[in-house]
Amino acid sequence: MESAPPKGIFVTATGTGVGKTTVACVLARAWKRQGLKVGVMKPFATGCRGKDGELISGDVELLLKASGSRDPIDLVSPFRFKPPVAPWVAGRSPISLDRVERAFQELAARHDIVLVEGIGGLLVPLTGRHTVADLARRLDLPVLIVAQAGLGAINHTLLTLEAARSAGLEVLGVVMNGLSRNPSLAERTNPAVIRKLGKVRIFGSIPRLPQPSARAAARHLDAGGILKAFQGWRSQKRNQARRLARLDRKRIWHPFTQMSEWERSDPLVVESADGVHLKDTRGSRYLDGVSSLWVNLHGHAHPALDGALRRQIGKVAHSTLLGAANVPSIELAEGLVRLAPKGLTRLFYSDNGSTAVEIALKMAFQHCQQNGQPKRRRFLHFANAYHGDTIGSVSVGGIDLFHKVYGPLLFKGFKAASPYCYRCPLKLKYPSCKIACLKPFEKTLAQHRQEIAAVVVEPLVQGAAGMITQPPGWLKRVARACRRHGVFLIADEVAVGFGRTGTMFACQHEGVRPDFLCLAKGLSGGCLPLAATLTTERVYRGFLGSYASQRTFFHGHSYTGNPLACAAGLESLKVFRRERVLQKLKAKIRLFREELKRFEELPRVGDIRQRGLAAGIELVEDKKTKRPFPWQAQTGIRVCRYLRARGILLRPLGNVIVLMPPLSISAGELRRLCRETAAAIQNVVG
Ligand SMILES: *Cc1c(COP(=O)(O)O)cnc(C)c1O
Repeated sequence: MESAPPKGIFVTATGTGVGKTTVACVLARAWKRQGLKVGVMKPFATGCRGKDGELISGDVELLLKASGSRDPIDLVSPFRFKPPVAPWVAGRSPISLDRVERAFQELAARHDIVLVEGIGGLLVPLTGRHTVADLARRLDLPVLIVAQAGLGAINHTLLTLEAARSAGLEVLGVVMNGLSRNPSLAERTNPAVIRKLGKVRIFGSIPRLPQPSARAAARHLDAGGILKAFQGWRSQKRNQARRLARLDRKRIWHPFTQMSEWERSDPLVVESADGVHLKDTRGSRYLDGVSSLWVNLHGHAHPALDGALRRQIGKVAHSTLLGAANVPSIELAEGLVRLAPKGLTRLFYSDNGSTAVEIALKMAFQHCQQNGQPKRRRFLHFANAYHGDTIGSVSVGGIDLFHKVYGPLLFKGFKAASPYCYRCPLKLKYPSCKIACLKPFEKTLAQHRQEIAAVVVEPLVQGAAGMITQPPGWLKRVARACRRHGVFLIADEVAVGFGRTGTMFACQHEGVRPDFLCLAKGLSGGCLPLAATLTTERVYRGFLGSYASQRTFFHGHSYTGNPLACAAGLESLKVFRRERVLQKLKAKIRLFREELKRFEELPRVGDIRQRGLAAGIELVEDKKTKRPFPWQAQTGIRVCRYLRARGILLRPLGNVIVLMPPLSISAGELRRLCRETAAAIQNVVG
């Protein structure tokens, strides 16, 4: 698993025309003289001359000459354009950072060190989504900043340093370029000021030269110091990966994990991410096939979400909703109410799915208590349900493997059977069954309606149970029964909300309007813990009265309505609109359905359950009898382990392989996810 840190330095500048190429050439010459094999790369060259297909860039020629390397031009400079403008503007053919990364890796394999020259400064756009800073991050290279000497150097160097660091880049140091023959007071004092305020090393100040004479420049540039700093960075990075893996095993108790197995494992330590890919401390990339446990929607490091977080952090990171309000929490509440099923006009914040459910339970309970229905103190929930891990949410759960041991701690409710069409206990088939499995539920509800405060349900899909999908019409009938008997309906859309099933909320497929809607996971776009429980005006009013009447909802968490998380949530709703996420989802869901067909013929695949951009593939030992693999065999885990070694990260649910990629996944990535998963199943269980 051990892979060495990348062998390269990313040379960027405070602006265009500052002298990146000069500095890169000086470094290449100096290191070559020391006997190093130096490679050069200028992934994007604009202002090229010559014919299309064989465009020549003056800078690239200088770099090749200085380094003496003879690599093919398509590796050294894969994207060349004639117009002297930003690549995003100049590019006619789509720009691919993947291609740049592959070219870099090939160059790194041929040389001891590769100098990668960026284009313009760090914020120059490469694609609609990526800047030069994102490219440096993708290549995982430390950056060397070339700064224009002279008046103004402090400001533009510090700005560049801030851009680099907030993009997560490691800065090796700064080289000042273009020093006057008789340096001004500013020029003489700037390096010390920049070093101090920017907390950065200065590797020299190169005088302004009529012709960029590398030899003259070399006298003013500490090429050896830069090399040493780079080598230090590399060895620290290598040690860091080992150290973190060791410390994780020693200090961290992972959720839902048998730690005795984990302690013997080689943990994957995520360091960065971009789009649907995660990158670990060893530089390996993984397709995030379960959206970092069902939370990510628009991809990692989405510039709009990251930007919203940065803007908000510049204002306030946290303030309380106990006794005060804050801007993003108000805006997000308004945005959510507009999107939610009709009638859900009041919103209570918390910070995870379990508490969102817990709050709905407490509100429903208290509402009955103080509004003339004190006998309604119990809940009706479904077999195989999962509503979170706190004692209250476990009480309405139904997964024995997780919940059995806590039995004595839980409050008692009514439990109804849930549909599981693949293993129908009634041995019936949809639709001729007419959803007969709902009969006992309807009976219990009718019988005990005076005692039941609310019915709790996961609309359309019981996620944690193994992506068990409900037959069409099931949810609607549950909602109708609740209405008929005057019992609250709590819809737990923690997993299925925010487009996962194809509509913004799953309830909307069946025109269901619950009394409570629980949201979490995708609410913040998948970047921060945030949850909300929405309810009706009627429920809300049941809590009004004088303070002395003791009708207050005495519940709240320290981070309720956290402004940072809410800012991300608000931006995520904007992304839904701006990028037409739901509209684009239709074609992806269709493609997903097509791709899932490849699992049908696999001898160990018993059932394929898809709803929108979520699917569960149930593996069985015997397809005919549907005999499951014994749980001790850890079949799902073995398949996912196999996939991890091939750059795909999944998390199974027992014998069910879960595919739940970010909504932003591309067609190509979706195909790859399905193709590789099918191959893994074939290879691991035949
Ligand atoms: C994940 C989940 C929860 C619990 O959310 P947490 O944020 O993990 O507490 C509750 N309900 C459903 C349906 C979920 O999928």
